[in-house]
Amino acid sequence: MTNSNPRLGTLAVWAGEEDYLMQGATQVPVVHSVSFGYKDVDRWLRVALGQEAGYIYSRNTNPTVHAFEEKIRALEGAEAATSAATGMGIISSALFTFLSPGDRIVSVKDTYGGTHVIFSEFLPRFQVDAVLCDTTDHEAIEAEVAKGCKVLYLETPTNPTIKIVDLARLSEAGKKAGAIVIVDNTFATPINQNPLQLGADLVLHSATKYLGGHADALGGVICGEKALIDPIYHFREINGATLHPMAAYLLLRGMKTLHLRIRQQNISALKIARFLEAHPRIEKVFYPGLESHENHAIARRQMRGFGGMLSFMLKGDDFDAVLAFLPRLRYAHAAANLGAVETIVGPPAMTSHVECTREERAAMGIPESLIRYSVGIEETEDLIADLDQALG
Ligand SMILES: *Cc1c(COP(=O)(O)O)cnc(C)c1O
Repeated sequence: MTNSNPRLGTLAVWAGEEDYLMQGATQVPVVHSVSFGYKDVDRWLRVALGQEAGYIYSRNTNPTVHAFEEKIRALEGAEAATSAATGMGIISSALFTFLSPGDRIVSVKDTYGGTHVIFSEFLPRFQVDAVLCDTTDHEAIEAEVAKGCKVLYLETPTNPTIKIVDLARLSEAGKKAGAIVIVDNTFATPINQNPLQLGADLVLHSATKYLGGHADALGGVICGEKALIDPIYHFREINGATLHPMAAYLLLRGMKTLHLRIRQQNISALKIARFLEAHPRIEKVFYPGLESHENHAIARRQMRGFGGMLSFMLKGDDFDAVLAFLPRLRYAHAAANLGAVETIVGPPAMTSHVECTREERAAMGIPESLIRYSVGIEETEDLIADLDQALG
């Protein structure tokens, strides 16, 4: 980009596209071609050897996919970025790139359900010790990191109880121990929070959620220094979890409105959280923008907005009451997704943490009656009225 200091909203619209606007097109094309041919075989060899920029085969690199990577790279202020077919594709690629038998990884109990399965089921099979600390116990995390670890893996805000961890503080602890600090920034998005600026080494997203924003494409992406991104790219090109060009196009298009969507969702979520907190049928509301949130002060420090995700418990912690409440909502899909233009609701017991047993959820402090509410871009007043009638 030529503009010296474009803001995030401008980057969301323009970044990453310039090189791919062919023949005056104003939009990046979907390049479906699997391979890229060369009449000049000397050039083919140079590209194949990585001595010259170019495309060879779309499992490795593809122009539409690259434009998507460049846009998120600009938004996270990173040197490099690489992508995968899904969020879990990029998370597992990153973890299996850096971890070897005998290594330790320190993380928290409230990571995304699929990530938790990697820690609890797969890493132990490769003799990697995954130490999972209480998410908001910063002293405990620091103590475990200080014992030595290869990777410190964080997520904030967390799913589904919307906990906040202090990224600047824990990144410093990770750095001191020589660990690679990885942050899942899916819930915050680069509009609300930039972990690299807070000291993290790598920031990743399930692009399926807010980046795409329309619940019509899966994708994952990770950003950071080239020296860390290159080996992740290398592992991903070989494991084959490549982002599809059509999905890359949909994600790229979705990202053009990222700042507008997030701005609206930030405003709505805070109003809805305040409405629910004052409602007699609600036991508890989890939202980092509320003064009652246990880590509100950290959220204020590290986030520019508190995001579109909240969760709440009905009085009585009764799962049957949840089952009666959900179908009464007019403007919310009951579904296992989040971060879309439509409002989405789901109990973690049926969505993000369906892979866990009831006992595991209880151990993670996830009440059975918890309802996760992903605020869409509908008018705030309509969402509040909808919740009010469904609770009534
Ligand atoms: C959905 C999600 C993932 C996994 O992403 P997929 O695209 O579904 O593989 C990882 N982290 C968080 C926080 C998520 O919400």
